[in-house]
Amino acid sequence: MHALFLLVFALLCGAAQAQQTLAPGVVLVPGGFEAGRQPDGNSLLLQAEGGGWLLIDSGRHRAHTEAALAVAGGTVRAVLNTHWHLDHLGGNAWLRAQRPGVQVWASAAVRQALAPDGWLDRYRRQLVEALPSAAPAQAAVMRVDLELLGQPDALRPDHEVSASALTLAGRPLQVGVETAVSGGDLWVLDRASGTLAAGDLVTLPVPFLDTACPPAWREALARLSAQPFQRLVPGHGPVMSRADFERWRGGFEALLDCAGQGLHPAACAAVWRTHAAPWLDEAGQARAGSMVGYYFKTLLQAPPEQRERFCRRP
Ligand SMILES: [Zn+2]
Repeated sequence: MHALFLLVFALLCGAAQAQQTLAPGVVLVPGGFEAGRQPDGNSLLLQAEGGGWLLIDSGRHRAHTEAALAVAGGTVRAVLNTHWHLDHLGGNAWLRAQRPGVQVWASAAVRQALAPDGWLDRYRRQLVEALPSAAPAQAAVMRVDLELLGQPDALRPDHEVSASALTLAGRPLQVGVETAVSGGDLWVLDRASGTLAAGDLVTLPVPFLDTACPPAWREALARLSAQPFQRLVPGHGPVMSRADFERWRGGFEALLDCAGQGLHPAACAAVWRTHAAPWLDEAGQARAGSMVGYYFKTLLQAPPEQRERFCRRP
């Protein structure tokens, strides 16, 4: 029974990590969102001038980061993390152990999240407290994050990004610094290929509202829409055309409007599912419904004083 579980698990992981070439020198390593464990975000590899690669987001689980390093032929010269959530940042630790010279760029919010009493530091303490009473499967999931959080120096960036134009590994990039999802969310437009890495400003099966400021998110999406991109790589989910992105954005706005009108979460989940239908299989539909319900309770229809609590960040 146990061996069978592991085999199925391995097959799922393998399927989730098939790489995809989007343009010459532009490769997506898709993240996974399998039952029974936490997700990995999408990773985007951009071929550097003069050899090697720039990696945008390093995943959480070692298998994902290993896949990205393999696609890069073992030569990742630089890493840019879109934000501090561990599914986009955790892989920094393993990558740095393999490639000690690798240089990491991220927003100042990563340092703040890892600082004593920052979000990740509080999360680490919650895990330590909850671990002894957790069921075995849950404890295994928790240990993945605890191991990462035990190496804060390996997660932190070497360089903090605030500029709007940046050249990394010889690739001219347009970078936006938003606050909507995590307090410090970078989006990155690779000018040469017209590929926009949106981080968790765009996600499927639903927008991830765990630490979000919804009004700021609306504004950030308008700025994304104004960028001259040909394709958009979301933080989670498949690559989008411009038309796909505008469809997704319409769903996001409809979801927030529905919540604001005080309508029932199930009705609003149905509105979202209609917009997101092209991307949701049956399992995705079900997952979207339960996640919308959760976010309505914790944020979108929480007591008024709680709804914008992530809009007041330092
Ligand atoms: Zn994510």
